[in-house]
Amino acid sequence: MNTEPDPDGCPYCGAVGGVTRVACESPKVDAWSCTACQGQWWTSVVNPELRHLQHLRQRTMEVTARSILREVITLAEETPELSHGQLWVRAITLLIKLDQCARAWPG
Ligand SMILES: [Zn+2]
Repeated sequence: MNTEPDPDGCPYCGAVGGVTRVACESPKVDAWSCTACQGQWWTSVVNPELRHLQHLRQRTMEVTARSILREVITLAEETPELSHGQLWVRAITLLIKLDQCARAWPG
């Protein structure tokens, strides 16, 4: 088994050093693990371009997820100033965004 570090780094935290290949049942799939954040992800080894696209998509989704999480934190901070109705509208809007993000998540 190849345990070389992934040169692209961890799609979750960006760490490169602690990223290693881990055992995976399918020979057509690379399983990766990050010791920094315990993140795990999988890439296809069938088509290098597909693998690259999956990485790009994972990174894009990661940025989207972080953006939503920032909005959640902002909402939590602003909660004391909001009316019950405003709070619910913004909370539901964020839940819809989170749902869309989760459904579009690669893999
Ligand atoms: Zn990581």
